[in-house]
Amino acid sequence: MGCNQSAAAPAADGNAKTRVIFVVGGPGAGKGTQCAKIVEKYGCQHLSTGDILRDVVKENTHPKAQELADKMSKGEFVSSADLLDFVKAKLVTLKGQLVLLDGFPRNQENMDEWKNQKLDEVCDIVAALYFNASPETMEKRLSGRNEGRADDNPEAIKHRIEKFKEETEPVVKGLPNLIDIDCNGTPEEVTTETFKQLDAKGIK
Ligand code: AMP
Repeated sequence: MGCNQSAAAPAADGNAKTRVIFVVGGPGAGKGTQCAKIVEKYGCQHLSTGDILRDVVKENTHPKAQELADKMSKGEFVSSADLLDFVKAKLVTLKGQLVLLDGFPRNQENMDEWKNQKLDEVCDIVAALYFNASPETMEKRLSGRNEGRADDNPEAIKHRIEKFKEETEPVVKGLPNLIDIDCNGTPEEVTTETFKQLDAKGIK
């Protein structure tokens, strides 16, 4: 993957890379909630790929906005090339900072495109956080959630969980410096465990 797996602080030469923590978890695993807690404690930045895409759809000025909306409402992944165009533009503005990249990677194509777009030249991947929830936990949490999202309908939920199993889980196993968190417990238990693991890796 050609990435730097160290959690060391940024270089002081003005050319520091953006320090990225990938955040992966199935729909309803609680990534958003946990990211907010991490931001609070570690003072890092939070970039959610889903939020970035929803903003593009909402603005509705980008030529691909409608195509993105269609894919997302069905629980399909959007093209990795399109996604990384948006993500890279944000990451390059955060040099030297620690960033939670929430919702990435989702599949092998995401990782291939990370390489194609030479993200390793501007980012160090310091860790990958996997919020690991059982399918039962995911379904239960999503069916009780009402955030007004176009993809929180039973058909899209089922599809998103299937896509996670088929495409995301196989990629997770190969991620650098993987932190696998059991998140079937309460949000507080998950937060405590997450902080413990991040501290153990010396991430700050
Ligand atoms: P999320 O808010 O993370 O659940 O993402 C919402 C939707 O945005 C997903 O169901 C996909 O349609 C799209 N999406 C988010 N992240 C990615 C990604 N890394 N690769 C492809 N599609 C993505």
